[in-house]
Amino acid sequence: MTQSQHATPPPATATRLQAFGTTVFAEISRRALAAQAVNLGQGFPDFEGPDFVKDAAERALRDHPNQYAPLAGLPVLTKAIADRWREDAKATIDPANEVTVTAGCTEAIAATILGLVNPGEKVVVFEPFYDSYVACIAMAGAEMIAVALRPDAEGRFGFDADELARAMATPGVRAVLVNTPHNPTGKVFSAPELQSIAELCKKHDVIAITDEVYDRLVYRDTHNPDAKHIRMATLPDMAQRTVTLNSLGKTFSLTGWKIGWAIAPPHLSAGVRAAHQFLTFAVATPLQRAAAAALGVDDSYYAQLAETFRAQRDLLAEALEGLGFRFARPAGGYFILADHTQVSQRLGLADDLAMCNHLIEKVGVATIPPSVFYVRKELGRPLLRFAFCKTEQTLRAAVERLGGLKTGQ
Ligand code: GLN
Repeated sequence: MTQSQHATPPPATATRLQAFGTTVFAEISRRALAAQAVNLGQGFPDFEGPDFVKDAAERALRDHPNQYAPLAGLPVLTKAIADRWREDAKATIDPANEVTVTAGCTEAIAATILGLVNPGEKVVVFEPFYDSYVACIAMAGAEMIAVALRPDAEGRFGFDADELARAMATPGVRAVLVNTPHNPTGKVFSAPELQSIAELCKKHDVIAITDEVYDRLVYRDTHNPDAKHIRMATLPDMAQRTVTLNSLGKTFSLTGWKIGWAIAPPHLSAGVRAAHQFLTFAVATPLQRAAAAALGVDDSYYAQLAETFRAQRDLLAEALEGLGFRFARPAGGYFILADHTQVSQRLGLADDLAMCNHLIEKVGVATIPPSVFYVRKELGRPLLRFAFCKTEQTLRAAVERLGGLKTGQ
């Protein structure tokens, strides 16, 4: 064999994606399966979505055409999204020009960034962030400016107003990406926080991209008495500069359906569609029809959903508190982001990666190491993300295994 046949071939992956490797969610789910660990890593429910939505899908598959939907979405669904928006945002939008249906929110993020951000422009992102934001910014040839969400003494995450103001004033900033309720911190951005972001958007002529997939999962209770989901697009003069992203997955426990959407004024929707048409063109026709049926649900469904998830949060939270993890109970979303240092020091483990490995391999519980969600990795090292979007049985199994940590296992 010649020398060149022995040499490692150069990586085939394009340079702009080489830094990202395999997404942590796929990687942890794979390891959880291999180690037979209880999976509190990737954020997906381990229970099924409601029957009435699945029945609607079955009927759609059987009784309606299964060919391409229009690229912007099936009219019955874009109308249902606009109808919901009228109730939620108290605003009337034109479904034909202001709603785009995508393959989950992940494609909506990609289409929005690729369709609206030029190479060399900058996007302000709060860290910790959902990992796809960064990859999409890189795919667009744009740059990210990270603004930190840091925990206070009680474990409530907030940002420094000056750090945000400086980031937004950087020449070339095109967009700010806001995820509320927030993955992974469980933070629900307050009205004053969103107003301050909105003011900076207007001052520097920046668009807001808001990822609101957990909008129905807000837990207003004694832990978070003021928690309330506020839509950026409803703030004064923001509808014209906001792209609101959402999906069916979290609200209806149907993450595998990959039905998402972007709501934006016509000039911004045009950019989203310019990219969407070449990413997926259109998404699964029968599932779009069923999604329209889902969105017609009575509001009591949403109340029940939040109540169920809140009980799951509390079950896990009480156990983690008892073990020495420190955090504020999340106001929204699927996750508890906990400081593990008390526990990890006892075990002689250095950081989130060591803790995550120990929990998968030795304890049999999979979690996500949050340093992957930070540019400033050190901010994530004391933390660990636990998903509570799981059945009571799964959570109890995890809690039982975690109980071993008390005795220094
Ligand atoms: N949003 C989910 C999470 O944060 C995962 C989504 C995915 O795996 N792509 O866990």
